Amino acid sequence: MHQIHVIYGTDGRRMAKRLLEAAGAGSHFSPGMRVALKPNLVVAKPASSGATTHPEVVAGVIEFLQDLGLKNIEIMESSWVGEGTARAFKAAGYEQLSERYGVPLIDLKKVPVRAFEAGGETYQICKPVLEADALINLPVLKAHCQTLVTCALKNLKGCIPDGEKRRYHAAGLTEPIARLGSLVHPVFTVVDALCGDLTFEEGGNPVPMNRLIHGEDPVLVDAYGATLLGYDPDEIAYIPRAAAYGAGSMDLEGAEIRELNRGESGKMTPSGKVARLAAHVDARSACSACYGGLIHALNRLDEMGRLPRDLKVSIGQDFQNEQGGGLGIGHCCRGFARSVPSCPPSARAILEALLKEI
Ligand code: SF4
Repeated sequence: MHQIHVIYGTDGRRMAKRLLEAAGAGSHFSPGMRVALKPNLVVAKPASSGATTHPEVVAGVIEFLQDLGLKNIEIMESSWVGEGTARAFKAAGYEQLSERYGVPLIDLKKVPVRAFEAGGETYQICKPVLEADALINLPVLKAHCQTLVTCALKNLKGCIPDGEKRRYHAAGLTEPIARLGSLVHPVFTVVDALCGDLTFEEGGNPVPMNRLIHGEDPVLVDAYGATLLGYDPDEIAYIPRAAAYGAGSMDLEGAEIRELNRGESGKMTPSGKVARLAAHVDARSACSACYGGLIHALNRLDEMGRLPRDLKVSIGQDFQNEQGGGLGIGHCCRGFARSVPSCPPSARAILEALLKEI
């Protein structure tokens, strides 16, 4: 059975190490292997923007690998067209990371490529990605203005040259992303879902979700990630296409989701659109994992044009012994007239409850 492991918290380094230990990730490696780490550094912004992989998550992965005795580890990325990868490495704190662990940074805009044929098209992939003995995918779970969600499969677009990125966009992204998923094979994915963006891949409306996700199947990881942003996996066109091309399975019902711990309540100071959505929420000691899912669900409702001005929803641990009259989110609100079960519920489950509520 395919597995997904989830860990909640805010300490990305410790969480990543514990997650990899629980998932038995060490079985993929042997001494002398060359390991490539592929974060998402699409733009030159820190992780707090909601755009880029937090360097402490990468630090935890590096420590895990170095504890196994692996010495040949590299961080690879090609930022989006128009952004310098070196600038992105610097802005996101990867220069210090590189120095701290003695791990080099590889700018994939400056390397040779290899071509593959798939579906009657030629696909170019950066050689260092293909030459690594093991590729570890380290995406951010966040919204995307065209594909709606970006996570494991789409993060692999940073493994191709800029000319290919332009071609992917001209082709509408879905087909080439799905094909790329069948050509590049990370040994596993660790998703940084600590704080991804609400609406765009370049950040600006960060939503704390305070969790990391591990999975070996990138299609399954993306299917799971889609539900955390309020989507049915079938709504994210490249996910079923990638499954059709043999990149993985999107059978979430047949998968085992192992949560290693529970989330903790945290303080959120929303701004921009997140603040506007948060005005619909009565939050009292809510866990960020839960609150973030509610914000994504409210955003989905808003995008559908169906968010009532007067809608109010309750969430948080302080509601545990209350008998509220309206809709409450999560196990803590089980005493409410209507509640969304689970702890934390996915944004998809919250959205379904909101649609019934309005
Ligand atoms: S249901 Fe309660 S305890 Fe569980 S994640 Fe939500 S707020 Fe936290």
